[in-house]
Amino acid sequence: MQYPDWIWHNGAIKRWAEATTHVMSHALHYGSSVFEGIRCYQTPNGPAIFRLTDHNTRLFASAKIYDMAMPYSLEQLNAACREVIRANDNTTDYLRPVAYRGLGGFGLSADTPTDVAVATWKMGQYLGASVLEAGIDACVSSWQRFAPNTIPAGAKAGGNYLSGQLVAREARRLGFGEGIALASTGLLSEGAGENLFLVFDGALHTTPVSAALLNGITRNTIITLARDAGIDVIERDLPREYLYLCDELFMCGTAAEITPIRSVDGRQVGTGKPGPVTRRIQDLFFGLFDGRTHDKYGWLEPL
Ligand code: PMP
Repeated sequence: MQYPDWIWHNGAIKRWAEATTHVMSHALHYGSSVFEGIRCYQTPNGPAIFRLTDHNTRLFASAKIYDMAMPYSLEQLNAACREVIRANDNTTDYLRPVAYRGLGGFGLSADTPTDVAVATWKMGQYLGASVLEAGIDACVSSWQRFAPNTIPAGAKAGGNYLSGQLVAREARRLGFGEGIALASTGLLSEGAGENLFLVFDGALHTTPVSAALLNGITRNTIITLARDAGIDVIERDLPREYLYLCDELFMCGTAAEITPIRSVDGRQVGTGKPGPVTRRIQDLFFGLFDGRTHDKYGWLEPL
């Protein structure tokens, strides 16, 4: 992998190779980090960071859930995000702010300093070339999502992603593009790193936050754009077999954007091709970045 030249680390722009942390950092042992993934799009009005403030607000919420002190303000973190993209000459499309318990104690409840970094790189299409058109084959994982009283799914924290790694790696090993997890209730939760939308009779159905999922910003964007366009959106419990029976199915997330799913567990979904509602949602979403969809909510935050 080709790394960009510059990274923001604890208040300064540094060379990528110099942004190091101690092997005894708390986060490395116990998963005690919180992070975000944010896209930067080239728009007709110049580069824009998509929902930067909403993403960093969620990072502060994740830190609060894990009782992690944040040494910078939201404004400072937003500024760091802009600064690191500019430092790399605006050649990247993805931002990764991360705050983590650093070196300063080995006990689980140790009061360690919080280190903060913001990296940026060129991600392109997360689930592989042409998936936005062709869709992917998904499977339901043998791994469940954590129960709500074990690990808080509403936090985007490093340790939570042990679950996502099990789901994603199992899916890839079995030859699928992505894995979908059930919640501890046995009902549908979400993908390894994506939320789910099913289409029945022209309406969007998505799993509720009570299904141990991350309340995705892309999910919220789709719900908002769809309702504004007169498409019904229903948040509800959904059983596994509805994945096989729905007319259309797609996953969404900052990295995955809007990725159609053409089959689940070897059963074709609908026609096996992105359907009209999926296409409409893709159009509305990507239209934000080429000017076809009015940015009514000020989601495009200029670089
Ligand atoms: N669920 C999980 C587990 C994720 O990691 C992500 C990616 N952040 C999402 C859902 C989608 O969230 P967002 O749209 O905010 O990127």
